Amino acid sequence: MAQSFQQYLETHQSENLEQLKEFLKIPSISALSENKGDVLKAAEWLRDELTRIGLEHVQVLKTKGHPVVYGDWLHAENKPTVLIYGHYDVQPVDPLNLWETPPFDPEVRDGKIYARGASDDKGQVFMHIKALEALFQTDGKLPVNVKIIFEGEEEIGSPNLPIFLQSHKEMLQADVLVISDTDMLDKGKPSICYGLRGLTGLQIDVKGANSDLHSGSFGGGVQNPAHALVEILASFHDSEGRILVEGFYDKVEEITEEEKKAIAQVPSDDEKIRQELGVPELFGEPGYSFYERTSYRPTLEINGMYSGFQGEGIKTVLPNTATAKITCRLVPNQDPAEIFQLLVKHIENHKPKGVTVQITPFDQGSPFLTPFDHPAIQSAGRACEKVYGTKVAYTRSGGSIPIVADFNETLNIPVVLLGFALASENFHAPNEHFHLENFYKGMETLCHYWYDLAESL
Ligand SMILES: [Zn+2]
Repeated sequence: MAQSFQQYLETHQSENLEQLKEFLKIPSISALSENKGDVLKAAEWLRDELTRIGLEHVQVLKTKGHPVVYGDWLHAENKPTVLIYGHYDVQPVDPLNLWETPPFDPEVRDGKIYARGASDDKGQVFMHIKALEALFQTDGKLPVNVKIIFEGEEEIGSPNLPIFLQSHKEMLQADVLVISDTDMLDKGKPSICYGLRGLTGLQIDVKGANSDLHSGSFGGGVQNPAHALVEILASFHDSEGRILVEGFYDKVEEITEEEKKAIAQVPSDDEKIRQELGVPELFGEPGYSFYERTSYRPTLEINGMYSGFQGEGIKTVLPNTATAKITCRLVPNQDPAEIFQLLVKHIENHKPKGVTVQITPFDQGSPFLTPFDHPAIQSAGRACEKVYGTKVAYTRSGGSIPIVADFNETLNIPVVLLGFALASENFHAPNEHFHLENFYKGMETLCHYWYDLAESL
């Protein structure tokens, strides 16, 4: 009988590890122009690898910045097509003196491989390649159609990805997008992220007189922009933390019963969080836990405000300007541009007399959600459970991953965030590492996933 992919992966463990080291040795720092050649070298390394394992149409595609590596294998008739995204660029390494071993000289210590990019994201990119290789080597084919896109600019904000997606829409068309660039819940606890919050932001500039005024001569006779700004800001929430902007919650869906069950799988200790933060009590929308407030509910936060005299001592002045910066984290169905308009309307309705108010929009990003019961999500869950032998957690994250929104907007396909890193693995920091346990188990999980997905999507 032919070898199983598990056997194959097991017998190739040390070989795979040595090869990962080779990949990690390439200092593909996208932010530094002096490493431009190295970023290209990493792209070419991937091109050669993808070709070697048996992918087709493999190419290094130029962008205005660092290239995109593409490859596919489309011979699984009547089976779904999976688009796999990862990035082969890494963060800069400074401060170098805090690294215990050089960042581009990978070393295994204590069951972990230490190197820049080990977990974010070269290690996970490499796992995808090796999982596909194991399937080719043991089955001679893949259970699903696969398209791969590896980017070289994620760590600098993917400036050229949206244009690339637009101009390669046909080529990238697939039934599901799988990204392995996130972390697990904890050691031994796999998780699948099915939702991210979006973002809309703005700056409010309140202007009064044409210069700062003496408070003895003018105080009491002219509107103070700082007072006016405070009045506007105070109108955004009630005293319990509920947002009062008209229409803000209109499209927000309540947490479903099914989701409540998923939430129960995510251990969250509000009291422990309170203690760690050193606050007298946690605060937020009534009726929701800390995790729900920070992942399932939208927010409106003041990020900064400034006005008037900030120096030592006292200065009896009426400032002539006051500024606040605000961002909202948005949940599925909330449209960033629409929420921005609601905020503008709210501010206009609450504008105090005697000042002018100017509003400037900031970056906007759409929220993303793949329905939790989507077959692609559930299939990934089954694959994790098979390998890790424990219940998988389905999570939503309070943050935003801009590339997910980019993909979502262009290709409009479900996204599965199936990551194998751990939050403690020092991404972007000195001594970045990756647990080999997840390196090995992750490859096995991916193989199971492609078999399961072939039957369930
Ligand atoms: Zn990353």
